[in-house]
Formats: sequence, C-alpha cells, structure tokens
Amino acid sequence: MISLIDTHSHLDTSAFDSDRDAVLAAALKAGVHAIVLIGYDPERWRSTSDLCQRYPFLVRAVGVHPNSASIWSPSVQQLLEREVASGTVIAIGETGLDFFREHADPALQLAAFRAQLALAKTCGLPIIIHQRAAEAEVLATLAEFAPLRGVMHCFSGDTLFANQCRGFGLHLGIGGVATYPKSIAVREAVAHVPISSLLLETDAPYLAPQSRRGKRNEPAFLIETLETVAEVRDEPQESVADATTENAEQLFGPTLAAARAAGMDSALCRW
Ligand SMILES: [Zn+2]
Repeated sequence: MISLIDTHSHLDTSAFDSDRDAVLAAALKAGVHAIVLIGYDPERWRSTSDLCQRYPFLVRAVGVHPNSASIWSPSVQQLLEREVASGTVIAIGETGLDFFREHADPALQLAAFRAQLALAKTCGLPIIIHQRAAEAEVLATLAEFAPLRGVMHCFSGDTLFANQCRGFGLHLGIGGVATYPKSIAVREAVAHVPISSLLLETDAPYLAPQSRRGKRNEPAFLIETLETVAEVRDEPQESVADATTENAEQLFGPTLAAARAAGMDSALCRW
C-alpha cells in the first residue's frame, strides 16, 4: 500500500471552505495519510491550529511568507517565537525571498528571512523555504546559517541549484511544477539527486499538476507528482513513495509520523 505525506499545503485557506471534509477524505482515499499545513502569517497560524485540533492527520508549520514580510516587526517576531514555543509546530516557514512578486520591500523580506533562519536554528526545528526569482540572494543568505535542516519548497531550479541546496543540508520539495512540459531542468534534477533528498508536496490550492493545471490543487493530486518522479528516476512508485515518506518523517520528526499513523487509521475506518 502506498502511504504518502503532502509536506506543503494550504488547506486552511478559503479555497476549501465549501468542501474541506470531502477534500480530506479524497486525500486519505488516495493514500495521502498526513498533510503539513503552512501557516504563513499570524491569521494563518490560527486557522492551521484550528484544523490541526480537528483532524489528527494534520500538522503545521508557522512563519511569515516573504509576500507578507511588510508586517514583520519586533512584536510579530515575538508572537512567532511564542507560537513556536507552544510546541505545536513541526517547522518554521514558509519564509524566504520573492523578488518576482515583490509584495514586500526586499530589505524587510531579508530581515524576516534571517530572523526565521536564526529562530529555526535556536529551537532545532526544520526551515521551509520559499524562493522565487531570488536564487542567488537566497543561497547567499543560507550560506550564513548553514548547516541547516529543512526544505527548498516548490523546487523549480536545475541540478546545480539542487546540489547547492543539498550542500546546505536542505531537502527538495517536489510538486506540480515537476509535471509541467517545460520543466525539463527540474525533472533532470529530480532524476539526478539521491532519493534521500526528495520530499513530495502539492502547495494546494496552487500549482495543480499537469492534468489539472490551472484548477484548484488538492492533496489527492499528489499521486500525479509521485508518478512523474518515479518515471524520471526509472524507479517503482512504491519505492519512491516509501523513501519520500521516510524522508519527511526523518526531517519533521515523530509528530508527523504519529499524524500519518492516525491518517492510516482514519483511511481504514472513518471515511
Ligand atoms: Zn506555500
């Protein structure tokens, strides 16, 4: 039996307000037995916490997304530290740099990114990194804090960038982007790195895989990304599923492993 973990999802957003239970049931049915929710600003810290209390197969990370970095201040940093100290989160993020959208001033993005990297190191939690149009700046910042534990979420670079991320101790989060026809360099990287570096993720509701591109993404669609990864690596889907699930549990720890066990139970009994 295949048992997957969606390591990056935004199921608390309003895109799922009308049918969240059905989306979760479909995920369990598809073999996605645990899901990491990413609380990317203080409002989302609350909404992810609410969902995690209701569903035992959900866990969460908290941080301030680069697109929300305009809110970054000493008091937000303090709130984040308090949230992390509550012991209910498995990672810090997503954080990073986004010079494609530039919703927030680059200097403020960098300050928030640095503070969250420092926090992750202090409290021993993995870091979840978002980068868009900022590869060089992200690498330079990571170099200040390496060695790290964490993931380059929504990996969309080439083999060189993959190896640079791995050099800092990061995993690569592989999602729908890897299934797009033009993502040749991404698939080449996926084929070449050791399987121990790979995690699977959807980034739902964003970045649906090729067969549903442009529509709302959801955790059940993770299977399509698994198929692509298995195909480009010329490995059986089962072994890619086993390895990526084990990688996720090693990185994010026993809370995630317990969530997946609960998800497997729920898949058998409740839905
Ligand atoms: Zn995200």
